[in-house]
Amino acid sequence: MIDATPLSPAAAEAAVATFAELGLPAPVVTALAAKGITVPSPIQSMAIGDALAGRNVLGRAQTGSGKTLAFGLPMLARLAELGDTPAAKRPRALVLVPTRELAFQVVDSLQTYAAPLRLSVRPAVGGTPFGRQADQLRRGVDVLVATPGRLGDHLRQGTCLLDDVCITALDEADQMADMGFLPEVREILGLTAPDGQRMLFSATLDREVQSLVRRFLPDHVQHSTGDSKAAVESMEHYILNVGRGQKDIVLSEIAARQGGRTIMFARTKLGCEGITDRLRAVGIHAESLHGGKAQNQRTRVLDRFKNGRTPVLVATDVAARGIHVDGIDLVVHVDPPADHKDYMHRAGRTARAGAAGTVVAIALPNQRRIIGRLTGQAGVKVTEVNVSPGSAELGAITGAQKPSGEPVREAPRRERPAGAPRREGGYRGQGGPRREGGPRRDGGFRREGAPRREGAPRREAAPRRDTGSTSGGGFRSRASHAAD
Ligand code: AMP
Repeated sequence: MIDATPLSPAAAEAAVATFAELGLPAPVVTALAAKGITVPSPIQSMAIGDALAGRNVLGRAQTGSGKTLAFGLPMLARLAELGDTPAAKRPRALVLVPTRELAFQVVDSLQTYAAPLRLSVRPAVGGTPFGRQADQLRRGVDVLVATPGRLGDHLRQGTCLLDDVCITALDEADQMADMGFLPEVREILGLTAPDGQRMLFSATLDREVQSLVRRFLPDHVQHSTGDSKAAVESMEHYILNVGRGQKDIVLSEIAARQGGRTIMFARTKLGCEGITDRLRAVGIHAESLHGGKAQNQRTRVLDRFKNGRTPVLVATDVAARGIHVDGIDLVVHVDPPADHKDYMHRAGRTARAGAAGTVVAIALPNQRRIIGRLTGQAGVKVTEVNVSPGSAELGAITGAQKPSGEPVREAPRRERPAGAPRREGGYRGQGGPRREGGPRRDGGFRREGAPRREGAPRREAAPRRDTGSTSGGGFRSRASHAAD
């Protein structure tokens, strides 16, 4: 392993090469310039050259650092240089991501640069019609951007085969580990060409991520950015102590602030819906984003938040993972996060790309200790303040003001009651409804024309918790265990 230690910020700035100098093809450089992207971000400066040279790359970088283009542009450039066309059902490159939203984001971002190279980039995620994805795969896809659950469905159905995949990128590997996806990820990586290029990006390199690296990127170049620290330093953290019975009013005053975008985190889908309803009842255009909504609703909600029509998004942790929305300047922990990692994931929705941001945790008297402990474990400097409805401190920290009190009149955007069974399109297989990426009981992934390998996918029937660890589900492969 070569550890490419980052340069000091001053040295890095002086040494910044242009995208053309990094070796990207002219049509990509032109398309970047058309988007106003002319100076490579630190992770791009560090990783693009190695990625273009076909090396395995381990990148430690956060969302907002420009990592999608750091792995995506070299991937496209190499595919264009190889000049092949994809065979039916056999993508030539694969990007694995933890969530549907991130998959769509990556597709959007890469399509801009794939088009001038005449390459195709397509998503394969749950909550969208399986048949259409299968059709696209049959017609040939250069870059498939997939969540592990839906890709597993395609592999089992034989609508996708990975033996032509010569470049694989794993995005937000730590979040995939946190969400319990690593058993599937191992299976999937095991089906790609063993001598192919692999790139893994993660904000942290925890033990589970390291086990992936050991197995699938034994030789790699590592690049880390200081971005995450800079982002953390541009955030201000507060614990807002509120009295019982005042929480809803305090929340509505925070949500009524003018200007920036606010994201509020609740633990459950029902919690999200309840908060959203209460905010709308006092005149705030809030919408909720959670896994109980159909994918098309989630996309629309996120679009409205991005384009500013909805100033307040109330989300669960899982739904908000990895999403990139510029201009979120306030994150509110309405319910305490499950642990310090979730605290940081939530907080990381603000203060992106060097912007400033404020993170507040609402603490009822019985929650103060737990929140204090979590912020301590997260290593952030936090200021604890007692606030009440209309208080000067609340206004100074969050910009809170009295909401209009006039209920939001248009029909609520919740098209299906929270907790109701999912009915959105797409193949569900034989195992009945399940969370994307959850365990299945039917057969393993199919490798056309290849005998089942020793250590090929095995099924475990145990159910997996919603955001739990890997221990309860997924596929077990002897090969992967031996290698860990
Ligand atoms: P990511 O970290 O991949 O989620 O990217 C975050 C955002 O930064 C995306 O909206 C990109 O379009 C944008 N971006 C990526 N690279 C650059 C760059 N070099 N200069 C300016 N913006 C960038």
